[in-house]
Amino acid sequence: MTELSDLPLRANLVGKRPYGAPQDPVPVSLNVNENTHPLPEPVLEDIIASLAEAVRGVNRYPDREFTELREALAGYLCHGITPEQVWAANGSNEVLQQILQAFGGPGRSLLSFTPTYSMYPLLASGTDTEWIGVPRPADYALTPEGVSAALTEHQPDIAILCGPNNPTGTPLDRDVILAAYDAFDGILIVDEAYVEFDEQRDTAVELLPGRPRLLVSRTMSKAFAFAGVRLGYLAADPAVIDALRLVRLPYHLSALTQAAAVAAIRHSGEMLATVADIRAQRDRLQGALEELGYTVHDSGANFLLVGGFADPEGMFEALRGRGILIRNLNIPGHLRITAGTSEETTALIQAIAELTPVDTQH
Ligand SMILES: *Cc1c(COP(=O)(O)O)cnc(C)c1O
Repeated sequence: MTELSDLPLRANLVGKRPYGAPQDPVPVSLNVNENTHPLPEPVLEDIIASLAEAVRGVNRYPDREFTELREALAGYLCHGITPEQVWAANGSNEVLQQILQAFGGPGRSLLSFTPTYSMYPLLASGTDTEWIGVPRPADYALTPEGVSAALTEHQPDIAILCGPNNPTGTPLDRDVILAAYDAFDGILIVDEAYVEFDEQRDTAVELLPGRPRLLVSRTMSKAFAFAGVRLGYLAADPAVIDALRLVRLPYHLSALTQAAAVAAIRHSGEMLATVADIRAQRDRLQGALEELGYTVHDSGANFLLVGGFADPEGMFEALRGRGILIRNLNIPGHLRITAGTSEETTALIQAIAELTPVDTQH
């Protein structure tokens, strides 16, 4: 048997591990920030009909420019966005990878503020881009001054601001985005994977006019309840979209993906109808955990970063033993928990209450 270490792997991949949250078939899966609410039946039926129609044409390659999907996404994004300003790929992870392929690479750098999305450094090493992780302040909230100083010092080729930030939930304020844009000459990506959950802030898509180096990445994997389809998208200047055409694989979005996404966007109101309930479950979970003596960080997303665990790995395993999967990201004392349905949240609160030593409870 050959081992990975016997193979002539690229030097910057040696010793690396693949991204991998556990995928256990447990009853309560709250570990990867999916929307756990089922899709409405009439919407499913329309998506199934669109897929059936698309299957009839699969002897041909799909529309390489996914024109109908880009029109649908532009309509959904509003704020005067045109299809020429829209791009999509198999998950926003692929969109981010294409951005790094076009604007990063050997001799170039990607900067973000840690802790943040664990895929950013992996995408950097996969494209031979130098990774610069700048620690966030103690409360994880970025400030215009802090962000400006880091970007002025490092002058990266690409910077990513994740708002709301994964895994901390921290919302991202507009003055931080504007300060970042003005502090360096590179590509600024705002990763809005969770933006639909943040009631208080508007999308950075509004900031696109006059800012050709600003890229706003979004996904259908979270609020839109469409993680299995793999559809991420981007709004930016049309010239940026032209750059991404240079690195995308031909026909990268299958006819089935395009058909499913177009049908889902037709029903965006119904697809997003569960967002208010998820927010309510998140707030309920926060209240219950604070009652039990835990520290919960301010979140604008569909998950909470929770501190105060004496033994996070022990709690993670004990919950897993009870059929509940959450996420241990190795932040000392902390675990990350996705807000699920009312039933899932009840099961989780009960289990954590039973596993919490009585003397730490309020
Ligand atoms: C989940 C997530 C994504 C999206 O991933 P997809 O590839 O679109 O499923 C992007 N950014 C962040 C910060 C995420 O948490």
